Amino acid sequence: MDLQNLLDDIVGTVRPLLGQGAPADYIPSLAAVDAKQFGISMATANGDVFSSGDADVPFSIQSISKVYALALVLAGDGDRIWKRVFREPSGNPFNSLVQLEHEDGIPRNPFINAGALVVTDRLLSIAGSSPSPVRELLRQECGNNSVDTDPEVAASEAANSHRNASLAHFLASYGNLENPVESVLEAYISQCALEMSCTDLALASRFLANNGLLGNGTPLLSPSQTKRINAVMLTCGTYDAAGEFAYRVGLPGKSGVGGGIVAVVPNKCTICVWSPGLGRSGNSLAGVAALDEFTTRTGWSIF
Ligand code: GLU
Repeated sequence: MDLQNLLDDIVGTVRPLLGQGAPADYIPSLAAVDAKQFGISMATANGDVFSSGDADVPFSIQSISKVYALALVLAGDGDRIWKRVFREPSGNPFNSLVQLEHEDGIPRNPFINAGALVVTDRLLSIAGSSPSPVRELLRQECGNNSVDTDPEVAASEAANSHRNASLAHFLASYGNLENPVESVLEAYISQCALEMSCTDLALASRFLANNGLLGNGTPLLSPSQTKRINAVMLTCGTYDAAGEFAYRVGLPGKSGVGGGIVAVVPNKCTICVWSPGLGRSGNSLAGVAALDEFTTRTGWSIF
């Protein structure tokens, strides 16, 4: 199969969708991004990269960061985090408060905001004073040392973070935070505001397609832990449209409100797509369509 041709074709297929949907606007600086952009990159387990469109334009990774935070916590702490966060789809918006009260301060899964705040809290405790462990992991795995938090996006989110602050205080009221609310929010916002391109993200995610092995061959996760992260991505990674994503794409995936989506074909490759126009559930419209086309044309799905 000519993968370069395929990706170029996909760019053509999704072109009519560009500009449809709307960029996230509750973080004002995300609303300012040109919504007509689209990029796609895939990286094979051994590091070959194919890309097309705006694959090298950096964008705000937002909730995609939650996958790497979870990976680092599982790597550092094993299964302990599962006492503090469930792993069931929520069926509610990613920033919803309602289930937290019904379930005694245990978030439904690590990819909704409440769950990611708990994971970030644990990562702060594990990492001590070391600088952003998520950023360091991503830099190392994509080989791009300029990967960093966009201070403008972080400030824009911080100035509009009433909901996440409410979630964090609510978690703290149940004793489900170990660190001060302000430190957890700051770490969470700064990892969400990391800027990376599709190529960076496809490369940095290869351990998810490679049984937990990092680019240098050392294990970050065991094969079993890697299987489990992929399972949680499949069931909870694309907001309250995870069922639709599984139906259309058939791969574990994690989206972010910046318009990026990372998908994993276990033992084969990772794919990252990006286009800022979001559908109703917060997933990139063109991104989902591109991944649908990719798995339909290649047959590379887990089903
Ligand atoms: N930083 C965003 C928030 O907490 C992430 C949301 C997302 O990408 O799902 O609202």
